Amino acid sequence: MNGTNHKHAIELVNLTKRYKKVEALKGINLHVKEGELFAYLGPNGSGKTTTIKILVGLTKATSGRAFLNGYDVDADPIHAKRQCGYVPQTINLDHELTVFHNLDIHGRLFHMERGKRRDRIIFLLNYIGLLDRIKSPVKELSGGMKRRVMIARALLHEPKILFLDEPTVGLDPAIRRKIWALIKKIQMDGTTIFLTTHYIEEAEFLADRVAFLSEGTLITVGKPKELINSLGQWALDTVENEQMKTLYFRTQEEAKKHAVLHPGPFSIRRANLEDIFISLTGRKVAP
Ligand code: ADP
Repeated sequence: MNGTNHKHAIELVNLTKRYKKVEALKGINLHVKEGELFAYLGPNGSGKTTTIKILVGLTKATSGRAFLNGYDVDADPIHAKRQCGYVPQTINLDHELTVFHNLDIHGRLFHMERGKRRDRIIFLLNYIGLLDRIKSPVKELSGGMKRRVMIARALLHEPKILFLDEPTVGLDPAIRRKIWALIKKIQMDGTTIFLTTHYIEEAEFLADRVAFLSEGTLITVGKPKELINSLGQWALDTVENEQMKTLYFRTQEEAKKHAVLHPGPFSIRRANLEDIFISLTGRKVAP
């Protein structure tokens, strides 16, 4: 397969990955459309990072195939890698170097010519709102700023697909929202985005479609609203025999009518993506 005749930005076909004892991915079939913002959800250990690592060429699948814009990540890694930028979960900037130098090194790795590198770095730092920190050593930046610099670095070679592994982990809610706005802007400017998260509200706010992964198996894929509507938009949480029980209803009125039948404490709330995951697996997404 080559890059001229593709339909999907990302395609996974029967993808499996076995580490020595662990079967981390058990045959994943999935596609992400060009321009989509796709959230890959699941509890810790479900295989999210492994999937991304295969796609960006950091580890090999045991079997199956993976394509980026039609390029096979295993058979054509050079072309496949050019299609994508990757922001890993842990901050891996060089803290002693300046913001400029961190980005510049990355541009050299992609053989970008000096003038183009400089122009692109200035453009991107302006884009992420950190041009005034161009000469700052990374160690002087806040956690949210470092995360934004990592995103700029991943965008330096103008990839068509951006992988974000837990982009807001450990950030406070206000900074998290700043990163969400940046992610949305990048998508609006034409980049396909594949992100992993276990913040359910992040996926609900950002994603066009989500996939739920559980123990290396894809359990459902869909648009957040449609998945929630399939369950019922309103949730009634009750406690019965010291067990928490949740029932779903189309309207708040239906939930209220049902609630009065319960003798114990209850609460009525809007259903969310976490409810989808729990109803399918009995487990929670967040650790
Ligand atoms: P997630 O990103 O959803 O937390 P991972 O993809 O990191 O999940 O891990 C999936 C499974 O594979 C887990 O059981 C994890 O312990 C295992 N795993 C991940 N990386 C390695 C590795 N390098 N060697 C052995 N096992 C691994």
